[in-house]
Amino acid sequence: MAAESTDKVAKMARTSSDSRTGERVTRTDAQWRADLTREQYEVLRRGGTERAGTGQYAYSKNPGTYRCAACGAELFDSGTKYDSGTGWPSFTQPLSEDAVEHVKERGFLGAGQTEVRCRSCASHLGHVFPDGPRPTGHRYCMNSVALTLESAHGSA
Ligand SMILES: [Zn+2]
Repeated sequence: MAAESTDKVAKMARTSSDSRTGERVTRTDAQWRADLTREQYEVLRRGGTERAGTGQYAYSKNPGTYRCAACGAELFDSGTKYDSGTGWPSFTQPLSEDAVEHVKERGFLGAGQTEVRCRSCASHLGHVFPDGPRPTGHRYCMNSVALTLESAHGSA
C-alpha cells in the first residue's frame, strides 16, 4: 500500500509542472479518486485528518523537501520541521508564502481554526496554530498522507 502510493505520487510529481507556472491544478472529483489512495483522498480532498502518530512523517527527521501528495508542489522544507509532540508532522513555516493558502474556518464559538491548503491544487493539508516555537510562533500541523518527502539525497 505504501509503496503503491509513493509510486503514484512520484509519477504525478514528474508530470505536474503546473505548480511552477503558478497555474492551478484542476481535476474532477473522479480523477482525484482515481489518482489518490483512499487515505490520501480522504485527507486531501475531503478535509480529513489522519490519526495522530500513524503517519509516516510524524517523527521523520530525514532531510529534504516535502511536496504536496496530490499535485507535487513544493510545500515545506525539512529544516523547518520540529517535534511538536502531537503525532503529526509539524513545521514552523511553509517553503514560501505562496506555497499554501490559509482558510479561516468558522468555529463553534466564533474563532475557528485556520485550515492550510496547497495553493496549487487547493487540497487540504492540515491546520496552522499560533502555538509554535520561535521565530515564527506558527505550528503548521500537517497530515503525513498529504505530503511526500523528496529526499535531499536525490531518491525519495
Ligand atoms: Zn497540491
